Parts: sequence; structure tokens; C-alpha cells
Amino acid sequence: MHTENKDRIQFGTKLIHAKTDIGSHYGAVNVPIYQVSTFHQDVEADNRYDYSRSGNPTREALEQTVAQLEGGSAGFAFASGMAAIASVLCLFKSGDEIIVSHDSYGGTYRVLTQLFSRFGIKTLFVDTTDLAEIEKAVTPNTKGLYIESPSNPFLNVTDIKEASAIAKKHGLITIVDNTFMTPYLQQPLALGADIVIHSATKYIGGHSDVVAGVVVTASEELGKEVKFVQNAFGAVLGPQDSWLLLRGIKTLKVRLEQQQQTAEKLAQWLKEHPLVEHVYYPGLTDHPHHELSKKQASGFGAIISFAVKDEEAAHHFLKTVSLPSVGVSLGGVESILTHPATMSHASIPKETREERGITGSLLRLSVGLEEPEDLQADFAHALESSLISVKTP
Ligand SMILES: *Cc1c(COP(=O)(O)O)cnc(C)c1O
Repeated sequence: MHTENKDRIQFGTKLIHAKTDIGSHYGAVNVPIYQVSTFHQDVEADNRYDYSRSGNPTREALEQTVAQLEGGSAGFAFASGMAAIASVLCLFKSGDEIIVSHDSYGGTYRVLTQLFSRFGIKTLFVDTTDLAEIEKAVTPNTKGLYIESPSNPFLNVTDIKEASAIAKKHGLITIVDNTFMTPYLQQPLALGADIVIHSATKYIGGHSDVVAGVVVTASEELGKEVKFVQNAFGAVLGPQDSWLLLRGIKTLKVRLEQQQQTAEKLAQWLKEHPLVEHVYYPGLTDHPHHELSKKQASGFGAIISFAVKDEEAAHHFLKTVSLPSVGVSLGGVESILTHPATMSHASIPKETREERGITGSLLRLSVGLEEPEDLQADFAHALESSLISVKTP
């Protein structure tokens, strides 16, 4: 396909035909896995690759692909989502303050409060869904705004456009963790953010078979800074795993479409179920950020959180369901059910966790590609059998 045509193609086509300048050998339709650590250097030529930490063709094909999907100028692949986050945090220095969504991923909270704090980087956790809170937290030392939207586990939505505008006014770098939405449903750079991060372990890979992270920068300058950190810090993604992501990405749209449809059905059904206390899903009209979500994303995603009566009922549910995997992670082809208090958010101190409402009765569901009727039947059984087990002495 001619290059000019590739610039105009729609997202779904881009997933299949993203433009990379990694040469194809023998007409291969996929980028080969360049399982090499080092490259022979022609002393008389300008060698594109020398060592795979600094650059590897398979990783670069992935990096160019994600940059296009997020509409940025440069992409980077890391050994995990946390490696991507930590590498981006390396852009800050001692004395800098970062404003961070108070209900962001547990690992993000941990790396900031227990690791980057050691290097004099100060974090202020605020409710970024309240724009006035962001404005109030800015001091002369503030250098960054780190948003996770929708957040985990309550799916709270921050207005990325307005928050980025506040950040820009104060000269802060806006970073958005876009893991839950994917570039198919939400494009933070187009809304004014400077850097997008993904745990590619989740929807980008999509098959629960790889741990990876990606970063995309809006500007070339920030791209150069991240490139420097990537090479200096060295938390790069290997060629095999890069290839797995390239493979997973091709079905991102079809997976998300289907998972989202099922999520909408299940959220509605759970909401009406007498044994469910509350359902958190931006697609429900009673979700506090339903309208904002409609405005800034093209879909509501496929993660639902819901509360049952108490911790005992939650445990019963986890023990009784048969289809979902029970554990951490999300975004796979199989449904994954998490107990945030003891799994994904266990790294947050109990007191802080409970202040944020993450109690033992809360469950989080990443909706997979199973048939919605089968999931519903499985959940109905798990919910209703708790009544029986409670009654039996
Ligand atoms: C999983 C996750 C991370 C961390 O990514 P890893 O690949 O597990 O290192 C960061 N942010 C969000 C929102 C996540 O769900």
C-alpha cells in the first residue's frame, strides 16, 4: 500500500496495516522475531542497530505501531507496565512533585510511595475527577500530572481534556495510564496529554500470555527523553514478547467490541440482581461520570466492579464461579475475576484502602469473550447458592 493511503486509514485497518519501516524479507506478512542481542557493525556504514537494548527491529515494529495507534510521535516498549511507568517517572528529579489520581493502580501507588520517594520525588494523591482538587494541589515544585482514567477499581473518570489544560497552564507534563480503555476507545494525546502509558499485559496483548508495557509520547522532544531513559535504565521488552504484542494488537478492535457488548449486558443484569449491592460501570446511566465518559471515549470498556453484601459473600462468589479465572490482571480473552482488597490493591495499606472504599465485599470483573448467557448463568448460580450455603448450619 502506498504510504499516503496508510495515513488516512481508519483505526480498525491501522491495527492490521500499521506503517513500520522495518523491512520485510521474502514477502513475509508479519515482522520476524529478531531474537538477537547484538548486530554486526559495518565500520564504514551508518548502522541502524548495534545492540538490542538500544534497538531491536521486532521491538521497533511494535513501538512504531503503538505510536500510530495512540496518534503520537514516538512509542516505546518495556518489560512490564510497571517498567514503563517507572521509566516515565525517571523523567522527574529530586524535589519535583507529581499530582497523581488517588485511586490509581496499586503498583503505581507502591512505586511512587516506596521507591521514587527515596529519590526525593514527592507525590500528591488527589481525586483528579474533581478539577478544582488538581488546581489546589499545584505548587511551584509541581512538574507532573499523572491520571488513570477510568480508575481502578471504581471506574471513576477524569476529564482528560480539562485536566491536561490545567496542567499545561502550570507547565506540567500530563501522563495518562490508558490501560483500561486502549487506544481503540480513548486517545489521551488527542485530548491534550503528553504521554500515554499502557500495561500491555492487559488489552494490547489480550491473551494473558505476556507481561509488557508501552509508552507513547506526543512530542518528539519527550520521545527523545523517554528513549534516553529506555536505553539508560534498560527495562526493555524482548523480541519474542514484542512479537506476541504485535500479534495480539491485530484483534484489539474485535475483542474490545465483543467484550464491551457483554460487559454492558452483564452490568445491567448485575445492577438488577437483588444480591448485588452496587455496580460500578461507566456505561450505566447512574454512574457519576457516564456523560463525561461518553464525551471523551468511544466506549465504556469491559471492566465492571460490583459489591456484594459482605466479605463472606464475596469469598463465596469467588469460590463458586466456574468460568472466570480468579486472580489479578485483566483484558484477556478469558474473563478474570479479582478481589481487589486481597489481590490487585493488596499493596495499598489497609487503612488507605478502606478509606477509598475498597472493602472486602468488592469484586472486579474483566469481561472476556465467553458467551454472555454462559457468564450470566454462572454468576447467577454463584450469587444465589450463597443464600443456601448461609442457611445450612
Ligand atoms: C496491570 C496494570 C499496571 C501494571 O502493569 P504490569 O504489566 O502488571 O507491570 C499499571 N496500570 C494499570 C491500570 C494496570 O491495570
